[in-house]
This record gives sequence, C-alpha cells and structure tokens, in this order.
Amino acid sequence: MKIGIFGGAFNPPHTGHVKAAETAIDYNQLDLLIVIPTGIPPHKTMPCGTPPPDARLLLTKNAFSGISKAQVSDIEIFSTNSNYTIDTVHSIKKQYPDTQLFLLVGNDMYDSLDTWKESEKLLSSVTPVLLPRDVTPISSTEIRSLLTERKGIEYLTEQNYSLIIKHRYYNAKPDWDWLREKAYQKLDKQRIPHVKACEGSAAVLAEYWDVDICDAREAAILHDITKKLDFNENMCIMCEGELPVKKYSIDNAKLLHAVTAAIVAKEEFGISDTVADAIRSHTTGKAQMSTLDKIIYIADYIEATRDFPGVEQMRKMAFEDIDKAMKAGLEMVVNDLKSRNIIPDEDTYNALRDLGDKK
Ligand code: FE
Ligand code: FE
Repeated sequence: MKIGIFGGAFNPPHTGHVKAAETAIDYNQLDLLIVIPTGIPPHKTMPCGTPPPDARLLLTKNAFSGISKAQVSDIEIFSTNSNYTIDTVHSIKKQYPDTQLFLLVGNDMYDSLDTWKESEKLLSSVTPVLLPRDVTPISSTEIRSLLTERKGIEYLTEQNYSLIIKHRYYNAKPDWDWLREKAYQKLDKQRIPHVKACEGSAAVLAEYWDVDICDAREAAILHDITKKLDFNENMCIMCEGELPVKKYSIDNAKLLHAVTAAIVAKEEFGISDTVADAIRSHTTGKAQMSTLDKIIYIADYIEATRDFPGVEQMRKMAFEDIDKAMKAGLEMVVNDLKSRNIIPDEDTYNALRDLGDKK
C-alpha cells in the first residue's frame, strides 16, 4: 500500500491544495492520502482571523471531500506543542505498518528538508514528493488577502466560502455578486428590483453623506431578506435571536421583517453591528439613528422604483437635509397607519422626537 502525507496549515484550504492532492495521488499511484492540518506550528503565530482548530479542521474536510482517496486527520491540529514531521510519520507508520510512505512537500520546504528534526531518520522512512509550484499557483496568504477585498471566491468551495463569510474568518468580506445572489434567493421575485434599486440609492447617499459605502450596500442588499416569511416564521426567528422580543401583533406584522432580517443577516452573512442596526431600523426608525440608519431608511423609501405623490421632493430633500427627509418619511408613515387604524410603533415616535421640530 502506498500512502501519501500532506501536511499544511490549510489556512484556508483552497483549490490549489486540492489540485496538488489529486496530482500527487495520480502521479504516485497512492492508495490513500492523509491530509494533516497542522496545529500551531513551531515559532509561528497564526494570521489574524484564523479560525479555531475545529473550524479549520472542518474547512479542510470540506475542501477535500471530493477526493475519495483523501482522508483528513486531526492528529496535529489540536496540539498546542510543536509538531514535528518525524513524530507524525512515526504514528502513521504505527497505524499502517508495511506501507510505503510519501511525504508531500512544497518547494521551499523541499530545499530545507535536511534541516528538519531527525532529517536522516525522516528521509529513510518517507519518500519526499515535491509539490510543483505550478500546481498550486495561489497561496493561502494570497487568498486571505483577496478575501478582505471581496475577492478570491473562485479558490474556495461554496460551502467553505459560506462558512468563512458567516464567521468573517480572515476578516473576509463577501463578494458582491455572491451576496446579491444569496439575498435575492430569499426574496419574492417581484421584490428583487426594489432591493437592487435600494442598493443603488443607498450607495449614492452613502457617498454623498460620507458614510461607508460598503456598509450601505450590505445593509441594502440584505434589508428585506425575511420579508417573504409569514408571521409565525418571523416570530420563530425573533425568539431564537438575541434581542428581547417586543410585543408584536398581526397588525404590525410587517415590522417584524426588519428585526428578523438583521438576525438572519448576522447569522448567515456575519454582518457588523453597524449594518445590523441599519437593517433593524429600516421600517420603524428609532431613537438616535446613525447616518447609515437614516440612509437605509430613506433609500428604502425613495429608491428608483418607488412612485408616490411627493417622492420627487423627498429624493431632493435626501441630499439637502437628510433629517428633514427622515422626518417627512416618518410622518407619512404615521399618517398612513393612523388612517388604517394601526397604532404606529413606539420606535417611530422615538425617531420623530429625536428629529425635533425640523420642518
Ligand atoms: Fe423592508
Ligand atoms: Fe425594502
């Protein structure tokens, strides 16, 4: 039996690793490839945003799940001591006596093999196999850096990319098209143009009012992701969320989606508290609204597909005096609700009180 050993930080594991594994299995006709994510390597601190060991193990298992001859081992990852290859090789030898072991090593490692702990012994126990650089044209370091720029999605499996975004490992930020697709999948088809237009308005307003445009986009893309759900489904999300459950009735059931969208967006896409706040207050407003909160509220109100008497005036107002626009929007809502015998939410009154006497 021929067994390959493929150790690495796999931080994160990517398509380059998988290709390298496939190539090594084919070329050396391996029966088994043991993939070993390292623990905390000797004299090395892990890069910022590195997932905890159990999560890195899961990412590695996911990444290699398509290779039937690969098996991910946790022999090193939970250890906080230095792991030396010779020790790992020993334990694998014990587990699989009478096998030929191949050690997969990268370029840089290959050249320094003779400096490894007990290198002679090591080299008599395993056949080193060089991982050609052109099989792995990308490194985990490069991917981590791409992830912070909303890029790099093509080097990861969908499952792993979702996990990385959910937890914002490596300070990753979601690829725009990926996030839009995920959000639109949760919407009724006819709501997609509204969300697209809302993102456009939010971005323009954010730029104008000097607010983080990316925060505005994330909030706008995700602001209605639970709108399709019914009252009970929304209540379930509320009860599982961390916020105290306010009293909601069927009457103002529409308000629930703002709170639940914030919960789901945080749970699935790891949005920041700033973005969550803006989503949460997009239907009612609230006391002490940030400029981002106001932008999302107003963008939702005046985006390009909206058409109601006075919309043009509000669009102008949004750039002249955002508080005045907020106040106009809130007052319109209060009047509309009252005309339908629905009691406006107290947060709407709090928002209005905050905005004072602005006319
Ligand atoms: Fe909404
Ligand atoms: Fe909306």
